[in-house]
Amino acid sequence: MSEITERLTQYREQAQRLQWEGSFEEYLEIVRQNPKVARLSHARIYDMIMEAGVRETDEGPEYRFFDGKLFSLAPQIRDIMEYFRAAAARMDVRKRVLLLIGPPGTGKSTLLIHLKRGLELYSRTDAGALYGIKGCPMHEEPLHLIPHELRPEVARELGVVIEGDLCPLCQWRWRESGQDWTQFRVERVIFSERDRVGIGTFTPGDPKDLDTALLVGSLDFSKIAEYGSESDPRAFRFDGEFNVANRGLMEEQEWLKQPRDFMALLLTLAQEQNIKTGRYALIYADETVIAHSNLHEYEKFIANPENEAMKNRVYVVQLPYALKVDDEVAIYRKMLSEGLLHDTHIAPHVLETAAWLSVLSRLSKPKDASLTLLDKAKLYNGDRIKEYSDHQIQQLKREDPREGLTGLSPRDAMNVLTHAMGQTARPCINPIDYLRAAKTFAETGRFLSHHTREDQQKLVDYIALVRGEYDKTVKKTVMKAFVHAFDQAAQTLFENYLQHAEADIQKTKVVDPITGEPREPDVAFLRQIEEQIGVSEGAARAFREEILLKAGSAARQGRPFRWDSHPRLQEGIERRLFADVRNLVRTTTSTKTPDKDQEEKLRAVKDRLKEDGYCEHCAAALLDYAGSLLQRE
Ligand SMILES: [Zn+2]
Ligand SMILES: [Zn+2]
Repeated sequence: MSEITERLTQYREQAQRLQWEGSFEEYLEIVRQNPKVARLSHARIYDMIMEAGVRETDEGPEYRFFDGKLFSLAPQIRDIMEYFRAAAARMDVRKRVLLLIGPPGTGKSTLLIHLKRGLELYSRTDAGALYGIKGCPMHEEPLHLIPHELRPEVARELGVVIEGDLCPLCQWRWRESGQDWTQFRVERVIFSERDRVGIGTFTPGDPKDLDTALLVGSLDFSKIAEYGSESDPRAFRFDGEFNVANRGLMEEQEWLKQPRDFMALLLTLAQEQNIKTGRYALIYADETVIAHSNLHEYEKFIANPENEAMKNRVYVVQLPYALKVDDEVAIYRKMLSEGLLHDTHIAPHVLETAAWLSVLSRLSKPKDASLTLLDKAKLYNGDRIKEYSDHQIQQLKREDPREGLTGLSPRDAMNVLTHAMGQTARPCINPIDYLRAAKTFAETGRFLSHHTREDQQKLVDYIALVRGEYDKTVKKTVMKAFVHAFDQAAQTLFENYLQHAEADIQKTKVVDPITGEPREPDVAFLRQIEEQIGVSEGAARAFREEILLKAGSAARQGRPFRWDSHPRLQEGIERRLFADVRNLVRTTTSTKTPDKDQEEKLRAVKDRLKEDGYCEHCAAALLDYAGSLLQRE
């Protein structure tokens, strides 16, 4: 049997095991063994996240449940977990709608999707198992069968909380059966958004088609005749999203854009754990309510005095964009890994370049006038510059509470990337392609968040800033590649340096490698290297002595002493080599037909670049670009 069919079989067997069904009495025994099966929704979600594990960091706990899914949102997740911790303990906060505010693409949907998929999986495990009344359209808690008078005693004995009443359909069955609980069967409940169990999602579509039935269910007209009355619960379809989401999670998208009666239904659900249908007395529902909205709608909502009372009924968490370049890059990588497969190679530094631009577009000007926006981005990214302390960086982050709520979104970056891919004939795009495409977007108003002239100009300025940083990276990258490709050349340079330095200090001669004749040490050559790292004429002797001492002690201890063993000398050699390289790049990129020797050298450098993730195209583009940068110097 192939591995796949084996897995399919295992899956089916597990699914069958999850199809447990039994009597109410058996269920009571299950609850006695494990009271957690009767948890309310907030507690279930809280436990699910906690059971995945918590990591303590300097900034506070981090929840493994969200690892690899959400980036840069640790403080917001902590805030959300505060909500769940209190709600799980049935504190009053559970009656509030958890409202996530943020611009598009900040992880609101990712967070919700992850909670939903998590709940689906969790309900399939022993730790996350739950049960419902068989045949109940809302798969409600079987303990609702226990009459209120008996509940305090039973709850105490089983160690559970019993909350809520039977749904209209189960109430009808309860009466019809002569209040006989033995007539009810209990089954295991498996959450599934697709099967509409335990997870509800509401997206307001066309306002013309909006009907509260989508939330709270509707009458089945074909059955009214059969049952003779509109108020017979058998003639009602408990298929609204609120009904579906009972026991689990209800997500409301674009909540603050909805008509007021829709918004009110959700508030009632959160506040009173009730679904209002107008046809029945209120229907109890136990669900975690998470709504989201964009910043613009939220600010409008807050500004309206009519909403004063509602403001206290929501628990607001703002989800900003990533302000750390490394986090932003991680988001792109995740998006690319989930997205369409494409054959285009993405050169090294493309995503970093994109991330710098996105982050710059989100930052607000620092109060400290000596700090540029680029400095701020670097500080946020963990670069130690300007001697800023952690405390100062924290202060910087608090300067503007709206920081990160505007600017380019990760989706914008992906759109630019796709556009850049379409613009090039090569099967590869590089950072310059990206910045060019971004400039086109900025100038033609294709970024929704930057539509005014002023916004556009700002973006064009940021693109120039990012390009300046990229230029520095190019020089460093090319230099490193050359030096590594010419490791042997560097070593020879180093050995020559030692030889001549030694002869100079000891007033002896060196042996000419070609003629074999003794000659004076080449002091001019020594100075060429020393000048690269700012060793003055007067300090040269001391520097040479120091190098020789280190070389001598390494030799005595049997340690190798190579060109890169002494950091300052290494830098001198790299720079000296790079001066040669500069000429090489200048000549090879400016002549249409490099000679054989030049070609070989270039080949070695490209091979080195390929080891670092470049392809033939972007390696060539990088060298061309480096050449053009060096021409200008
Ligand atoms: Zn029911
Ligand atoms: Zn490439």
